[in-house]
Amino acid sequence: MDLFSCLSPFVFCSFASGSSGNCYYVGRQEEGILVDVGISAKQVKMKLLQQDLTLNSIKAILVTHDHIDHVSGLEVLEKEHPIPIYAHSDCLQGLVEGKATKNLDPSLFHEIDPLQPFNLMSIAIEAYPVMHDGRGAVGYHFNYEGHTLTIATDIGMLDKVVKEQILRSENIVIEANYDSEMLEKGKYPYHLKQRISGPFGHLSNEEMARFIVSAYHPGMKNIMLCHLSENNNTPQRTMQCLHEQFRKRRVRPDVNTTIFPLPRHKSTGFVYL
Ligand SMILES: [Zn+2]
Ligand SMILES: [Zn+2]
Repeated sequence: MDLFSCLSPFVFCSFASGSSGNCYYVGRQEEGILVDVGISAKQVKMKLLQQDLTLNSIKAILVTHDHIDHVSGLEVLEKEHPIPIYAHSDCLQGLVEGKATKNLDPSLFHEIDPLQPFNLMSIAIEAYPVMHDGRGAVGYHFNYEGHTLTIATDIGMLDKVVKEQILRSENIVIEANYDSEMLEKGKYPYHLKQRISGPFGHLSNEEMARFIVSAYHPGMKNIMLCHLSENNNTPQRTMQCLHEQFRKRRVRPDVNTTIFPLPRHKSTGFVYL
């Protein structure tokens, strides 16, 4: 068997992750879907090119919610190359009213119903509601030929719905937004600290770590930590927190499980799911 026949046909690539912009590629090596366009169209094209892809390779854009760090590049990209946009109806309404997205062509909009599976490019997709203060905020679960991925970003609290999605996935992109101590001691005004740590804000390292360790099974291939805060977290702190939880609970991650934080601006290249 050669190297390439061992690799999964289902790939993920993070183009950017964090409050400065989020954009992920999910699909096959030659064509796929974007999840969020929170970076400029120019950046998207550059990152696609790095993977030998162009906008022609993108068959759909799924949006998690209408916050600017997830949609800032959408309008320019769509003007240049119209691509169907899938999102919750509340999120689509948010896009119509949003400063950076109000000129999007609504004929490109496709409403999705949370927990109602649909298919794009033979990938089974399910959106699920998450607790966050963006409009129509959802996460996404993907299944392509039995290879599974859950994206769980921008979540104030891990409720039963999110946990169930992660439990049925081999590959997970989960938010690790802030280190509690850094947020508490940091410069943010009180109301912002309350928002971030509240039930409709973001996930802390600790919340992420506790849950991942409790849900861990050796079938987990990739655990990717996303949306790290620039001011209230570091990749080292996130990883340290997760490894500490593994140690505390006496759980040893399998050698075939890869755990890593997603870089803020750099592309990860293809991750084989
Ligand atoms: Zn958000
Ligand atoms: Zn965000």
